[in-house]
Parts: sequence; C-alpha cells; structure tokens
Amino acid sequence: MQTRIPVLSLIVATAWLAPSLAAQSPARWKIHDMTRPVPRKVVSQMQLPVKPPSDAIVLFDGTDLSKWMAADGGPAKWIIKDGNLAAVPGGGPVFTRDGFGDIQLHLEWAAPTPGRGKGQGRGNSGVFLMSKYEIQVLDSFENVTYADGQAGALYGQYPPLVNASRPAGEWQAYDIVFRRPRFQPDGSVAQPARLTVFHNGVLIQDSSKAWGPTSWLQHLPYASHPDRLPLQLQDHGNPVLYRNIWVRELEEEPRPGPGRHQTKPLMTMTPMMLDRYVGTYSQGRGLPTVIKRDGATLYATFGLLPPLELLPHSKTEFSLRWTAATVEFELAADGRPKQLIFHIGGEARPAVRSSD
Ligand code: MG
Repeated sequence: MQTRIPVLSLIVATAWLAPSLAAQSPARWKIHDMTRPVPRKVVSQMQLPVKPPSDAIVLFDGTDLSKWMAADGGPAKWIIKDGNLAAVPGGGPVFTRDGFGDIQLHLEWAAPTPGRGKGQGRGNSGVFLMSKYEIQVLDSFENVTYADGQAGALYGQYPPLVNASRPAGEWQAYDIVFRRPRFQPDGSVAQPARLTVFHNGVLIQDSSKAWGPTSWLQHLPYASHPDRLPLQLQDHGNPVLYRNIWVRELEEEPRPGPGRHQTKPLMTMTPMMLDRYVGTYSQGRGLPTVIKRDGATLYATFGLLPPLELLPHSKTEFSLRWTAATVEFELAADGRPKQLIFHIGGEARPAVRSSD
C-alpha cells in the first residue's frame, strides 16, 4: 500500500498541472501556424449588391467620403474610383467619423485584378470592428497562407469555417454581426467580443469569441475601451476596392432576469371554489375546452394540448401561467360559470359550458 502512495500523488499532481498548461494558449494552434488545416471551399451564388434596409446607416454609397477620416482626423486619403472606395497603398487606414458598438455591418469588397503577390501580400486589407477586431480581407481564392489569416478569418485567432472566396476582381460581401466586449468596472472582461460573419452569404464565423484585439504575431490581452469606437478599413499596401457599406446599430441583448411577466395580484381560492369552474366548454366547432382541478390548481385543456395551469385573479378572471392569455368566466346568478371567453392574440373565443 505504501508504495502506491507516491504514484497516486503523481497522478494528482499531473491533474493539477494539465489545466494550467492548457490555459497558456486559448487555441490548439499557435498563431499563424501553416500546418493548421485550411477550410474547404464553398461556391456561393449570392447576388450583389445588397441594398441597405430602411434603418441602416449608410457609410459609403459611392458618392462621397464624408463619413470617413484619416487616423489624424483629417480627410480620408483613399479615393473614389468608378463609384467604389479604393484603398490607396501608403495612404493609411480609414476610419468612420462616428463610433459604433454592437452592429450589423454589410460591405462589399473586391481584391485587385490582375492579382499580384502571394500569401498575405495578395489583396490584403481588413475590416476592423471598433478599430481593434479584424475580419481579414485577402484574395483567398487560390492563395496559400496561414488559415487564421485568410479571407474571413478573425485575424490570428479563428480561420473561417469554410472558404467562400470569389476570384480577384469579383465583388464579395461580408455580413458581420458584432457584439462589442463588455468590461467590469475594474477593467476585467465581463463578455468578450463576439463575431458572426457571412462571406458571400455563407456562414464563416459562428459567434466566435475574440481572445482580445487581433494582431500580427502577438497575442494581445483585452484592455478596457470605450463602448463606441470607429470602424476601420486597413491599408495593407494593396488597392482593394470597397462599396455599399452600411451598418445597423443593434440594441442591447436582453439580459436574463425577471422579465416582464405580468404581476397582477392573485386571488386565493379553495378547492371548493375552484370546482365551480370545472367542466367542458364548447365553441360549437372543433374540440372543446376542458377545465379540471388537480389539488389546489385549476387547469385548462385546449383541444389536444396538455393541461395548462390557470392562475386566479378574481372570480371571473384567470390567466395562463406562461402565456399572455386570459380566461374570462361569465357567471350565472348562482355564481357558476355559464361560459368562458379565451383571450389570446387580440382575439376573444367564447365557449359555452356544456357539462360539468
Ligand atoms: Mg488584413
């Protein structure tokens, strides 16, 4: 027995060690690993352009750059060419003048044609949500690079789920749902940034949680930042074209909590009182509504549905526990119901009591 104790201790020690080692890297792959499998190709038939919906903020419609600026706040140094926004190599990135937090973003882009360069040097630009979280723009139609840096990658973190790239020169679309990170007052992360992305209508990022801001080579930790920051398009030395850029600002996600359940006061009823409502109520056509009591609770059965709990508010008004619907009873002179009216979705459905 004594000889086994060191072995057990070793197992316990290993078990403690393993999670701490795993915690050093949030992924199974090192950043920019060329051996990381590349996603399979998918051919998209999405038709472009996609016109903005009525509540969209149009950031570029082909006419002017008034919504954009250079890093120093001066005029954006990119040009409008044939109604498209063209990256100017050496012109630096462009930023929206307005800041955005949670958004749905649509934009269309085209890699330069004829394609020049290879790897990260071929049709490289990027869409930086909040100027920090890059969805890669790259000519990835037939171009080998590291999987976490190809078109649609959350750069250096998550490769796209599939490669839906079109050839250089063809218009491509990104539809991005971005939820900004949330920070605690002490600066720690309450919720990481989340990105869902469609490339030419094909899902390529499925609620991916950013580990932190994206970066070349580096694994950057989160640092608390404002709730709204400009959208940025990257100048990576290639004259990538953009068009049809619009965003929809998203409302806060509903938080789990008590919600808006009606809190109308309940009336306490004895089983004897509840028994007055028990019976079968017919609508004339279809299956009847059956009211039953089980213990101290009244239940309504609508057609073939299972019994649904009724909460009493008064002698004439009951509500469904989980559904915004009420059952109103019309009482005869003896206090017993002669019919019920089921209120649901703005409709009132009367049913006459046919039996006890
Ligand atoms: Mg890039």
